[in-house]
Amino acid sequence: MVELHREQARGKDRSKYFWCLHCERAYERTEFRLVEELQMCPYADCNGDTVTDAWEWNSIRRANPAYPRVPKHGVRYAMYRDEKIIKEEFARYREASVRQGGLMIQANATFVLNLSKQRLSDLVQSGRLHWHEFFDTKFLSCREIAGFKKVKRKAGRPFGKGKTGNVDETDSAE
Ligand SMILES: [Zn+2]
Repeated sequence: MVELHREQARGKDRSKYFWCLHCERAYERTEFRLVEELQMCPYADCNGDTVTDAWEWNSIRRANPAYPRVPKHGVRYAMYRDEKIIKEEFARYREASVRQGGLMIQANATFVLNLSKQRLSDLVQSGRLHWHEFFDTKFLSCREIAGFKKVKRKAGRPFGKGKTGNVDETDSAE
């Protein structure tokens, strides 16, 4: 049986279905798309993961009682936040923050990495960095940023004569 990263991180699943914060679609709890060791949202055009971005369908339904017990595949279900769900979101934010060594908004991440906003979203697009969404805001993992900064510095350090060839990652003014 496949081990779900979500269960390893957050304990046993209580719902049969999960809802993705990135694409607002639902899937069965055992579904995911494996992308470089990461268990991602099963919908191919989505860059959410099945750990921090997956919400128990039951809690989405609690705030949205008109939603069906069994969600339809591919249908977008908007999340309307009630007091209870905001409380849960705040708890998840705190959890993710601990796990990620802190969460940083985009503007701060571009500042810390000395990258343009466009370059930052390219890095997310390519899977080097990941968005974590809370309160309708996109955050980045401080752990990922620190890791990326390290790689970037190494790539930028000249060794021997001439360039490392890795121009792409050396756009830092450090
Ligand atoms: Zn998704």
